[in-house]
Amino acid sequence: MKLIIANWKMNPDNSLEAKELFRFFDDIESDNEVVICPPFAFLGLAPERTVLGGQNCFWKKEGSFTGEVSPLMLKDMGCRYVIIGHSERRDIFGENNEIINKKIKAVLEAGIIPILCVGEKKGDNANRVVVRQLEKGLEGIDSSNVIIAYEPVWAIGTGDFCSPEKADEIRKIIKEKVKSKILYGGSVNSKNVKSYIDKGFDGVLVGGASLKKEEFVSLVKNA
Ligand code: PEP
Repeated sequence: MKLIIANWKMNPDNSLEAKELFRFFDDIESDNEVVICPPFAFLGLAPERTVLGGQNCFWKKEGSFTGEVSPLMLKDMGCRYVIIGHSERRDIFGENNEIINKKIKAVLEAGIIPILCVGEKKGDNANRVVVRQLEKGLEGIDSSNVIIAYEPVWAIGTGDFCSPEKADEIRKIIKEKVKSKILYGGSVNSKNVKSYIDKGFDGVLVGGASLKKEEFVSLVKNA
């Protein structure tokens, strides 16, 4: 069984469309586990059998943290997973490896499965960046409880996906460091998804294609 994580990011821009996407994807028949990560505002609209994930959370349980959502709140809303350290969180919201480490600990304590995103920017040494993100992000954490998503930043939302061979080189480096399941993310679509699975990835993290009804259904079926 492969894991297909749909990251809707801050989309769609209204609840009617969100309900329609949930309804459409509710009919997917697949042996793979499909996890929908909608914006927080739409979590409560999901049909009962949808497997849900959050896109982010804070590390505290409750309190005066305006605008934040705790892991326990996500759990209470039915989330089984939560994405942590997505490159957009790192780049736009200034999350560093120390913050990410605190979040993963809090998520595990709440009984949810964290999906830690790692990946290099264009021109970076991929090996060095990814190993550092893993070492710092997972400090004091049993990696077998965490899922890793290898997402080269230059491949996210660009259509410029990483070749399965190159992605597999990094997958092997990650595999030497952790006991986690490893996903690939970065411009995955219905045509290239199988090439990552065939290389040995345990699933994929999908952004743009997870908002296109027919395309996402094909992607899940082709995985
Ligand atoms: C993502 O949001 O993590 C992602 C991989 O997006 P996309 O599939 O659009 O590249």
